[in-house]
Amino acid sequence: MRVICPHCLSTNNVPKLEVYKKANCGKCKESLLDPHPIALSSDNIDAILESTEVPIIVDFWAPWCGPCKMFAPVFEQAARAYPLRALFAKVDTEAEQFLASRFKIRSIPTLIVFKEGKEIERVSGALSDEDLDVFVERFL
Ligand SMILES: [Zn+2]
Repeated sequence: MRVICPHCLSTNNVPKLEVYKKANCGKCKESLLDPHPIALSSDNIDAILESTEVPIIVDFWAPWCGPCKMFAPVFEQAARAYPLRALFAKVDTEAEQFLASRFKIRSIPTLIVFKEGKEIERVSGALSDEDLDVFVERFL
């Protein structure tokens, strides 16, 4: 299974397992099991959407958005909760206005789930820990 290293963004091939004890990036040697949300930009988004086999959960946010800031730690915790089962990424809609219009973001925060390069679901508004877990589990 192909996964993106959240540290250096290189593609790794890892066996598909139920539980991972250890998995390190072949390039930067950082652990693939200690992920943090990666920042998507118009430069890297297409390569990442196309080369990732697990569901990608993308948080569209902006620095001036209060609910986005409150949601950020919830999203980071979820990123650590599903190592190698889902990829968590963020789009700063202030810096990446092209992506905000490409994905027709009308309010933030908005979460979009991509699988095999295609949008399969979206939800607007900050979710609680529990609601985010329930949301993510639907796509694993
Ligand atoms: Zn790496």
